[in-house]
Amino acid sequence: MTQRKKALITGSTSGIGYAIATKFAQHDIDVILHGSRPEEHGNSIASALHQLYHVNVSYARADLTKPAEIDEMMQKAKDTDILVHNAGIQYVAPHHEFPPEKMQQLLQVHLLAPLLITPHVLPHMMEKKWGRVIIMGSVHSHHVSPNKTPYITAKHGLHGYCKSVAYDYEEYGITCNEICPGFVDTDLVRKQIQEIADRENRTYDEVMQNEFLIRHANGKFVTLEEISQTAYSLCIPGHEQVNGQSLHLDGGGWLPPSKKKVLA
Ligand code: NAD
Repeated sequence: MTQRKKALITGSTSGIGYAIATKFAQHDIDVILHGSRPEEHGNSIASALHQLYHVNVSYARADLTKPAEIDEMMQKAKDTDILVHNAGIQYVAPHHEFPPEKMQQLLQVHLLAPLLITPHVLPHMMEKKWGRVIIMGSVHSHHVSPNKTPYITAKHGLHGYCKSVAYDYEEYGITCNEICPGFVDTDLVRKQIQEIADRENRTYDEVMQNEFLIRHANGKFVTLEEISQTAYSLCIPGHEQVNGQSLHLDGGGWLPPSKKKVLA
């Protein structure tokens, strides 16, 4: 009997991370869910996922802004075969008004945490001569939007990180790729839509259509299924040469908002 692969997905008790964890579990991959909330919360989600798909599912808690907690978590997850850097937050403000602690938090969760986590699993992957590192980038790994300077900085940084890991570790059968979705209908985006709607006295649907979906060539949200299937496809045979790549999921193209409109 071949041993199941084990995947650690950061920020996986909700949204995109949970969808990827579920996809992996459906395909007989053991899963470590991760989040910053207490053990009882994560354990109950892990237990429900185990009941559904009968793979091993556990929960690891660590606040990714705290390197000591990352280190403690990773002592128990060194034998990870598939690592998905997914955890993220959003905060929107002009750069000159951005609270410094928010900038720090954004860079820690999105950019520093992957740099601190990956080295813990590389020795295992190198020994096995197989490993997958998947980074949740964004259209903002390549494009800009207004008032998201720290997020855009972090996502562009992840693009370089992805290429660097791919280059250095390809000889060990390890690939590192970045999935770059446009907008996905999760809490992270709903909160942004609602904030604009409230601030500008507009309806949620109108903001969603005219500020968000309009950016995608096909005018549709990217779905959780499309992202999780892309992540899974990187883990099955036949994709070894896909390495150091940004996989864009944006419905055929993403249009940055017009500067004139933003300033109007
Ligand atoms: P989400 O809010 O549902 O999930 C983010 C997860 O990260 C949550 O589970 C949260 O608990 C976790 N997290 C945040 N800060 C943490 C911390 N300090 N320590 C531990 N965990 C922490 O949002 P989502 O939309 O599923 O986002 C997941 C990833 O996808 C993010 O990296 C985001 O930038 C990226 N992304 C999202 C979209 C979108 O439109 N939703 C588009 C492109 C990229």
